Formats: sequence, structure tokens, C-alpha cells
Amino acid sequence: MALIVQKYGGTSVPDAERIKNVAQHIIDRRNGGDQLVVVVSAMGDTTDKLIKLAYQVTEPPSERELDALLSTGELVTSTLLTMALRHMGYEAISLSGAQAGIKTDANHSRARIVDIDPTRILRELEQGRIVIVAGFQGITDDMDVTTLGRGGSDTTAVALAASLKAAVCERYTDVEGIYTSDPHLVTEARRLREIGYEEMLELAAYGSKVMHPRAIELAGEFNVPILVASSFTDSPGTLIHGEVSMEVRNKMRSIAHDLDVAKIMVVGVPDRPGIAAVIFGPLAEAGISVDTIVQNASINNITDLTFTVTKSDLVKAMIVVEPIAMSIGARECVSDARLGTISIIGTGMQNTPGYAARMFSTLSKLGINIQLITTSEIRLTCIIEESRVKDAVRALHQAFQLDLEG
Ligand code: ADP
Ligand code: ASP
Ligand code: MG
Repeated sequence: MALIVQKYGGTSVPDAERIKNVAQHIIDRRNGGDQLVVVVSAMGDTTDKLIKLAYQVTEPPSERELDALLSTGELVTSTLLTMALRHMGYEAISLSGAQAGIKTDANHSRARIVDIDPTRILRELEQGRIVIVAGFQGITDDMDVTTLGRGGSDTTAVALAASLKAAVCERYTDVEGIYTSDPHLVTEARRLREIGYEEMLELAAYGSKVMHPRAIELAGEFNVPILVASSFTDSPGTLIHGEVSMEVRNKMRSIAHDLDVAKIMVVGVPDRPGIAAVIFGPLAEAGISVDTIVQNASINNITDLTFTVTKSDLVKAMIVVEPIAMSIGARECVSDARLGTISIIGTGMQNTPGYAARMFSTLSKLGINIQLITTSEIRLTCIIEESRVKDAVRALHQAFQLDLEG
């Protein structure tokens, strides 16, 4: 008998009928003899609806109250799923994040898990119950409810799997695993049988919402294997793990895209020590995470500083940066919210020339202007106009022949 953590995303539980189907899926697994802890997300687009509601009442809503509000989405699913299981004759209990012992820091809307006390979960398991945990939430030392950031139920599931030393974390969604690109965008996208933590982390961090990046970070750190599979079909899925075979490690594996990108340019900045610290310190204090940063070579001691943030952080970032830009003598501060990124990812890119050239020539044939380029050892990202991102992903998928096995 193994201990398994399962996670069902919002797309798997949009209505009562699908919740009953998920209950049956859980029961089938349970009848195989395993102990189950199941993490659930809010139903369908409930979280978006709750955020909208809060902004209709006041703008901006209190961060503490917003977290308490959003946590209710996951509570609805966990309680309904538990009722469905009990109706089908199985012992089950729902636990909120707090009841499940998930302790976080106090950074509302982006809290980090600092500790998990699994006592209550273990007690329920010992009594033969299926434990259903509301994902995406935790509790601070002051007993305030927090949320872990959008998509954060994945992180709840992996953190619980690590804490409970589960054999595997099974993550069920509306597609059959991790693909060479978003299968809803590229029809020829191919399911990968396995993928390593490093590649999956790049995919997740550069726009593939199928896994929350922090969940992959945690999985890598604690060596938790994750099986991504469909809650609708019996396909074998994709195993995310640390022992990916050599052959697979020598390849370009996938293309990610992200439409949630905005750019801020601080133009005509006097080039002197400390300028970057003056700008990026206050942004960090405001809780705004900055991704790509590019500083041009200076001409006559004048330079330009460009960086990207998410679209939802743009207004907040401009409020922080504009007065600083003026105070350090910059000529102007401009922004562009109509951007996106495309990234090619694969450990095979390491030390292999030619990938960048093929990416650039594919984009050039489409007449797409590359605004910024960033790289890691196993990723190459181009920032382009948002309206061209989808065309670019399809063309790159074809150019790199990702539809072909091997
Ligand atoms: P859930 O409700 O299960 O959390 P999400 O909508 O958050 O589901 O994530 C699943 C979606 O991720 C898929 O429907 C798919 O469109 C998208 N996606 C993006 N890139 C990929 C990829 N490389 N492989 C699989 N799915 C991807
Ligand atoms: N319900 C939350 C969201 O929509 C968390 C999650 O689904 O993982 O972001
Ligand atoms: Mg999700």
C-alpha cells in the first residue's frame, strides 16, 4: 500500500457532474489499495470571478480580505467532492489549508509555505479516510488566511507529497500530460513521456500554466516525481522526475509562450554606479517581480534601462519607477503592455550551436521583430509583439520538427 497525493485542477471540476466523475476516479484508485490525499482547485474560473467581484466592491481590495475571499473557491470544491465520495459509500473528510497544517509567511497573494504539520492528515489516513485538501491556501502564525499565487494548488500538492513522503504526486488536468507546446494552440503538439525538473521549471516559468513554477522547484528539491495526466481519459501521461534518460536529455523539447508580459523603458539615464539599485530596490519592496533586465551600452555616459513585468503589475510598477526615473535625471519613462514571449527549451541546447540561428530565421521569415532576447543554459526567449506570439509558436514548432518522435 502506497501513499499517493493527487491534485485536480479547476478544469477537472467545473460542475457537479464532473465533481462526481472525479470522485469515481478517486474511488477507482482507492480500490487498488492506496492511501489517498487529494488536493483540489476552485471550480472552473471561480477564482477569476471572485477577484472581479472584489474589484467591483472596492479598488484595490484589502490584500488580507482578498486572500480570505479567494480561499473560499477551493473550500467549495473540497467540501462538494467529499460529499460526493461519502454519497458513493467512501469515508472521506475535507480539510482547509489551515486544518491540513499548511503554515505560510504573511505575504498575501504570494505567500510561501514555511512549514507543514501533517499530524491531522496522518490521523485521518490512519482511520481509513480519503483526505481532501483545499489547495492554494495556508495560514500565518497570526491565523490569517493566505493564498500562494495563481495556480498555487499545484504547489500545495507537491509540498504535501514532500511532507508526507508520498510515492508520487499525480496532477490531473484537461490535457493528457506535458506536450511539446500548448496542445490547445498547436494541434500537432506531441505528448512527452517524461521531462526533467530543469526543463519543466523553464517551461512553467515561461508561460506554460500546466504546472506552477514553485511546485516544480519544490519537486526538484525534495525529489518528488509528478505524473501529469488527464482526468478525462486513461492516457499514461507525462512523468516529471530527476532521472530522465540520456537520449532525451540531448534534445530540444518544447516551446513555451506567455502573453502576460509588459515592458518598461527608462530612457536616457546618466550611467553611474548605483542606478540599477535605486530602481530595482523599491520595485522589490513593492512586491513586484521583474523578469528580463537589459541595459544598453552607454554612449556619452547616457544609457537606457529596459525590463519586463507581468501586465497586472505594470500600473503598480510605473507608479514606483516614474518618480525615481525623474529624480535620477532620466529623459523619460515609457511602457508597452502589448508584448509576449516565446521560449525554446531543452537540455540539448547546452553547448550546441544552431538553435538560436534557426529560431531567429524562423521569426524573420514571418516578419516578426524581436524586441529583447534572454537566455539560460537550456532556454532561449524572444520578446515580441503579443499579436504575433501564436503564429510564432506554430512556426517554431514546425521549424524544430517537434511533432516527430525521436
Ligand atoms: P488546471 O485547471 O488543471 O490547473 P490549467 O488550465 O491551469 O489546468 O493548465 C492546463 C492547461 O495548460 C492546458 O489546458 C493547456 O492549454 C496549458 N498548457 C500550456 N502549455 C502546455 C504544455 N506544454 N503541455 C500541456 N499543457 C499546456
Ligand atoms: N484557484 C487558483 C487559481 O485559479 C489556484 C489554482 O487553481 O491552482 O489560480
Ligand atoms: Mg492551473
